[in-house]
Amino acid sequence: MTESLYELSDDELLRYSRQVLLLGWDIDAQVKLKSARVVLIGAGGLGCPASETLVRAGVGLVHLIDDDKIEMSNLQRQTLFLPKDIGQSKALTAAKMLNDINPLINAFGSTERLTDDNAFEVLTRFSGKMPDLLLDCSDNFATRDMSNRLSIRYQLPLLSASAIGFQGQLALFEPDQNNGCYQCIFGDSISDDNRTCANSGVLASTTAIMGNLQANLALQYLGLGNNPLANKLLLWDGKRMQQRVMGYKKDLNCSACQR
Ligand SMILES: [Zn+2]
Repeated sequence: MTESLYELSDDELLRYSRQVLLLGWDIDAQVKLKSARVVLIGAGGLGCPASETLVRAGVGLVHLIDDDKIEMSNLQRQTLFLPKDIGQSKALTAAKMLNDINPLINAFGSTERLTDDNAFEVLTRFSGKMPDLLLDCSDNFATRDMSNRLSIRYQLPLLSASAIGFQGQLALFEPDQNNGCYQCIFGDSISDDNRTCANSGVLASTTAIMGNLQANLALQYLGLGNNPLANKLLLWDGKRMQQRVMGYKKDLNCSACQR
């Protein structure tokens, strides 16, 4: 780690030089990444590629929350894990790998299940503050529903991704903009749809693509303050190789975000 959160060391300038060179990106954006705190809910198919890209790009604090252990069937798509890691904690194994990939950042893991009751303590555990951005990398609707509630309760921007089969979805909700939430889009279908990767299957590339689309938007949001998906939902269809962006409106009767 370097002395200051507000300047870049020589090692950081060298490591991130291809980004700092980029038109539309600069040292200021890179410094913002360095001081950013990101929490990922889930260290699986989405959480692995998303966190790896964030860490390689220079996000300063990355905290993964996952109570699962690594299984053989995870290795097809969960890119931070090796066969020798089977049986180990996903969150701790991923955090160790991320710290090895980029020693200039700090990655942490938490091994309990995030709940409404422990959320404040877990979300603030390693920085003493709420994260700048919450990434929902979970694989079930119950957790996505809880992420949505926490985003609204603590006014945290929520970057929600999902991947199943050949398809994925992505949206970035900003509660302080009062422009709708996950439930505004999906309504009661949240509890009706029980498909998961475990019961429906997923192509290895679907999670890699969706995790990196999620990272792509996170980097822009954290570094430049851009949300190109404001009031929009991105749909990826890996079979047809098509991406669609559709608009949505805040549901004035939404039981989650109505105020
Ligand atoms: Zn809502």
